[in-house]
Amino acid sequence: IMKVELICVGTELLLGSIVNTNAAYLSEKCAGLGFSCYFQTVVGDNEERLTQVLEMALGRADIVILSGGLGPTEDDLTKETAAKVCGKPLQLHEPSREAIRKYFADRGMEPTDNNWKQAMLPEGCIVLENHNGTAPGVIMETERGSVILLPGPPNELRPMFEESVAPYLAGLTSQVICSRTVKICGVGESRAETMVKDLIDVQDNPTIATYAKTGEVHIRVTANAEDKKAAQKLIKPVVKELKNRFGSHIYSTEEETTLEKAVADLAIANGLTITCAESCTGGLLSARLINVPGISEVYKSGVITYSNKAKRKLLGVKKSTLQKHGAVSERTAEEMAKGAASISKADVAVAITGIAGPDGGTEDKPVGLVYIACCVKGRTTVKKHLFSGSRDKVRDSAVSAALGLMRS
Ligand code: ATP
Ligand code: MG
Repeated sequence: IMKVELICVGTELLLGSIVNTNAAYLSEKCAGLGFSCYFQTVVGDNEERLTQVLEMALGRADIVILSGGLGPTEDDLTKETAAKVCGKPLQLHEPSREAIRKYFADRGMEPTDNNWKQAMLPEGCIVLENHNGTAPGVIMETERGSVILLPGPPNELRPMFEESVAPYLAGLTSQVICSRTVKICGVGESRAETMVKDLIDVQDNPTIATYAKTGEVHIRVTANAEDKKAAQKLIKPVVKELKNRFGSHIYSTEEETTLEKAVADLAIANGLTITCAESCTGGLLSARLINVPGISEVYKSGVITYSNKAKRKLLGVKKSTLQKHGAVSERTAEEMAKGAASISKADVAVAITGIAGPDGGTEDKPVGLVYIACCVKGRTTVKKHLFSGSRDKVRDSAVSAALGLMRS
């Protein structure tokens, strides 16, 4: 596998005043094209330090991609520095000069003297047109590897990558990388990891990696091979094995399918309508469900009953239940779900009540205690959870758990 290394140039990046989205974009794209990326560096607009990291990168990677510092100003020195490291003198590139002239003429503006600096390009380089700005991109091929220079602004870098860099990189390698994600809910991260540890221990191609999301675990299986079909053939038996191990806890193996989408699809397939009654999650469950296009077929209504009074008035939770068991209790969750079901006439009613924190916890009802009830055609299941983390985290966990309960 060919190795690519990224160098993002910009003092603003080092200071944290801009977020390095180019690195995320480029690494994802390169991985998708079948390249491995072992190092990424951020370096300021400084010739000496840029030289240092570029030398290092050329020593260990086949392709080095730099972003930023191609602008017209004094502090932009990526091209000058990289050309020097590669031993290529800068010379005037006529088409680029013409493109700069035209770019300004089209906008009724006059280029300043330093704009012409952007038409000075390394000798013998491949020039990448910039349709969204004035700095052309550059590919320099040297005995130590290819050096690719891209402008910093994402709206210039991304189209240039798609149009010119991706085809160039694709021409260098005959490998492709494919991956499949097995999405699991209702199994904690550490348990999920234990369940696949033996597979991870002997992984090679495909590789297996687990990622924890709130209330979910994703296991990504990634293979490289000479073409898509061969990669998929490597992935398939591993996905099958994961299906054996996790069974019904798997809600999807599709890249685009979210947990809420899986719930919506299931409800639509079974013709079951949905209603939600929420306390501590304040409508988050409804919001996530309604994010799914097409949910109108099954989603009927949702209520937020935050106070005890609202739980009584809007859902018919009994006063005695609230007094005896409290708002955060199995009984209250159950009565909320039953009340929501009978008022809305929905087939599935879900209720959430809990203590999101940071205050309000007691010894027997700590912060993070959440009861979730799901009433399906008159039969109610209640689950007790104790989530950890901040108020946001507890609420998000509760929503994911509710979706998980709806799916089961
Ligand atoms: P310009 O001609 O605009 O000066 P440039 O190629 O010299 O372009 P920089 O000066 O390094 O690029 O950055 C210009 C702007 O591009 C930054 O202010 C920032 O908004 C954006 N940018 C630069 N690098 C990155 C990065 N790694 N991730 C996201 N945005 C970036
Ligand atoms: Mg700049």
